[in-house]
Amino acid sequence: MEKLPFVSKEKVEEIAQVYPTPFHLYDEKGIRENVSNLKKAFSWNKGFKEYFAVKATPNPFLINILREYGCGCDCSSKTELMMAKTIGATGDDIMFSSNDTPIEEFKYCNDLGGIINLDDITHIEAVEKACGRLPEKMSCRYNPGGIFKISNDIMDNPGDAKYGMTTEQIYKAYEIMKEKGVKEFGIHSFLCSNTVTNEYYPMLAKLLFELIVDIKNKLGIHISFVNLSGGIGIPYRPEQEKNDIFVIGEGVRKAYEEVLVPAGMDDVAIFTELGRYMMGPYGGLVTKAINEKHTHKEYVGVDACAVNLMRPAIYGAYHHITVLGKENEACDFKYDVTGSLCENCDKFAIDRMLPKIEMGDYLFIHDAGAHGFSMGYNYNGKLKSAEILLNEDGSFKLIRRAETPKDYFQTFDCFDLYDELIKE
Ligand SMILES: *Cc1c(COP(=O)(O)O)cnc(C)c1O
Repeated sequence: MEKLPFVSKEKVEEIAQVYPTPFHLYDEKGIRENVSNLKKAFSWNKGFKEYFAVKATPNPFLINILREYGCGCDCSSKTELMMAKTIGATGDDIMFSSNDTPIEEFKYCNDLGGIINLDDITHIEAVEKACGRLPEKMSCRYNPGGIFKISNDIMDNPGDAKYGMTTEQIYKAYEIMKEKGVKEFGIHSFLCSNTVTNEYYPMLAKLLFELIVDIKNKLGIHISFVNLSGGIGIPYRPEQEKNDIFVIGEGVRKAYEEVLVPAGMDDVAIFTELGRYMMGPYGGLVTKAINEKHTHKEYVGVDACAVNLMRPAIYGAYHHITVLGKENEACDFKYDVTGSLCENCDKFAIDRMLPKIEMGDYLFIHDAGAHGFSMGYNYNGKLKSAEILLNEDGSFKLIRRAETPKDYFQTFDCFDLYDELIKE
């Protein structure tokens, strides 16, 4: 499928007059349509709730859009819990799916009334220690090990993943938790990342549904919510076919009817913790071509770099690029599109066929709305960019300003020289 940006060259020029490139731009309309469809696809389940994976796009303005549709926050650290708190997400609106968790973060979550999702059996004791006693509602993270396959395709390798408890451990964990007064139980599992297939969620759901029926039969413990976590992917490449959330929702419903309903468990709520699927396609990194270099290869240097979007540098991930205003021109020039870090992996694209790029052209780097801005760092003294929301009515709003050198030097405020340094 042809990938087109959600913004025109003219609009980007208008925005860039106010906020210089590079910046992350988000599409309010796309975000709203998508979350609304997710809700519809799972409307057959009375307790359905999406806990947005905050780490994917930790911006309160964006998360607040999702909050209008009843979404909660899936947090992985204390700072993310704090962000949830600032936007009024507390109690059942928080899922704390952390790992290698510092013990005091359990307490912080518990004080907010959030649901603690235990990554390990040893954390039962840690939570007890941190909170005085176990909360009444808790969840456990499951890792069946082995290799997760769909048909003959190896999707991922849970046996190699650090997350979750083994089958034996999870039975034991529920037993201990029940003994210690937990009243409401959940289960969570995240086996494959960025799946571009409609089969992942239904398969995972079936596996978890069968497990919780067995737990009920063996331990007499009723698990009241099943958290399918993240993992629904997006088509980063034009040739990939997009997931159909309605087919996915229907697939999960079928597994529910097949496994849970006959077991008398038709009150189980389905939770999700989607990140990439909720925001990925609705954010783009907008950057300007500022240098060209003709050496052993043809290079176009842009004003963004891996600090603004790391995925190509660290995973070799493909991100589609549109040269704005040249959507209909032939792609008959081959470029490496680079940032300015002193790292040769700082390339947004390698040997990419694109229209002829002139200096000053704006490039739209697609699908940067999740695990984009949030993964950024400050290597080479690079500063993080602004985030801007393109509203449904075509107006735009700054939702996070760009960092300044002052931000970069802020943590040196323990030295006298800092005052000198920041005189700009
Ligand atoms: C990262 C993460 C998610 C979100 O994953 P996506 O691939 O963005 O959907 C959800 N839950 C947990 C525990 C995670 O670590």
